[in-house]
Formats: sequence, structure tokens, C-alpha cells
Amino acid sequence: MISFHQVTFAYPKSPPIFEAFDWNVLAGERWAVLGPSGCGKSTLLYLLAGLQQATSGQILIAGRIQSGPRPQTGLILQDYGLLPWATARKNITLGLDIRRFYGPDGKHTPEDFDAIMHEEHVDTWIKRLSLTPHINKYPAQLSGGQRQRVAIARTMALNPDLLLMDEPFSSLDAPTRVRLQDQTFELSQEQALTLIIVTHSIEEAAVMGEKILLLKQPPNRRALTFSNSQAGDRRFRETPAYFDLCRRLRQELEPT
Ligand code: ADP
Ligand code: MG
Repeated sequence: MISFHQVTFAYPKSPPIFEAFDWNVLAGERWAVLGPSGCGKSTLLYLLAGLQQATSGQILIAGRIQSGPRPQTGLILQDYGLLPWATARKNITLGLDIRRFYGPDGKHTPEDFDAIMHEEHVDTWIKRLSLTPHINKYPAQLSGGQRQRVAIARTMALNPDLLLMDEPFSSLDAPTRVRLQDQTFELSQEQALTLIIVTHSIEEAAVMGEKILLLKQPPNRRALTFSNSQAGDRRFRETPAYFDLCRRLRQELEPT
């Protein structure tokens, strides 16, 4: 699904954040990208989303060289990106409205886009994310968890095959965070999505990532990865294996 070949990336007049970086993600895998602030997690998502271009090397997504944003990729940024003057429903249909506006051009909208099918999806996702009672409220009238669910519904209504999330649950209270982590994992399974969640939380990486990519202070030259087949299992959080994984990740992240 995703492959990084010798990817080097630097912001102008800055030292590289990635240097000859190789990394592969299979379709349907759920990854957590973990690392301290400033290590390049958001930059990695921008490269994946086509919002930044590699300085050298190649990024392939679904067999195509990444050269700009791809309509089948869903991106949820940290502040959810909701329009304050539009109701929850309007915010959820926004992506669909934009696709209708452009039509199936392969750039803003996939070539096989079917507006009627997506219209039906909107109601399904509103129900699926328990947003029915909130649909006529404005973002300011919603809690953080509800806003995040609106952002997820909007993205899911567009049927992405790849979902990228930047620290999606970091500003939520603990019980809401746990609920949304479980819900997001389940819907990625149900939809056979490839999921990449960026987080600075070791605990979140351990519950969300079947694979975990660890980034460190730049330049990142090698993909340090962990396998974690028990991710997504609600009981995993209470097991010794979970605490053991958290401890290993913490040791790796400690500056030496
Ligand atoms: P993270 O998301 O892991 O906190 P970022 O990917 O946001 O890290 O940033 C990685 C590094 O790149 C940081 O040192 C940051 O200051 C720098 N950086 C981020 N965006 C830009 C930019 N637009 N121009 C120059 N430097 C940037
Ligand atoms: Mg970031």
C-alpha cells in the first residue's frame, strides 16, 4: 500500500528530518507512529498525504508515485478542521459537497465516485458514530469527543482506503479517549482500512498500532518497528504483555 524508497526530506534551510528512509506498509495494516515532539511525525503524515514532497527518493501509494494529494486518502488533523459556522451535519457532508462540485476528476474526487452512494453513507456514519442527537449543533456546542466523531464521520463518508490521523485523541479526557480509540480501531477493521495514527503517547501506540514505527530526533535514517498483534483487543490494556510493550517502547525512546 505504502512504500518509502530512500526518502530524504528537509524543510528549506533546515537539516533533514528523514534521510534515505525506507518503510513499507501493507494494505489493511494499522500502524501507530510514535515519537517525541519535533521528531517528524506530522511531517511524515504530510508526506503521506501529498502535502509535502520528498526532497529525494520516492513514495509510492497504492502503486502510484505520490506527487500530490490523493482523493482516496483521508486525513484528520489535530484540530479536527471543522467549520465553526456550519452545523455538525453540514460539516459531515462538506467533503461530499466538494466532490460533487468538482465531479469525478481523479484529483479532488476519485474517478469511480458515486454521489448517491455517498449520500446514503452520510446517514450511516452519523448513526455509526452516535451523532444523531447532535446533528444540528454547531462545533462550539459540541464536546471534544463529539467534534472528533464529526471529523471521523466526514472522512469515513468519503470511503477512504487510507486514513491518516495526527494525534487525534490527545486533547480528550481519558474515558472518551479510550472509547474513541476502540471505536476507531473497530471501524478500521470493519472497513478494511489502512490506518496510520501519529501519537506521542506510548500507551496509545500500544493499543492502536499492530505495527509501531518509532521516530527519534532527526535525522531519521532507519525505520525502527515493533510488531504488536494484540493491538485493538480491549482486554490488552490490562495484561502484563501490554505493560511490557510500553516499557520496551519507553526504553527505546529514552535519550541515551
Ligand atoms: P512532530 O509532529 O513529531 O512534533 P513535526 O513533523 O511537526 O514534528 O516537525 C519536525 C521538525 O521540523 C521540527 O523541528 C519542526 O520545528 C520542523 N518543522 C515543522 N514544520 C516546519 C516548516 N514548515 N518549516 C520548517 N521547519 C518545520
Ligand atoms: Mg505533530
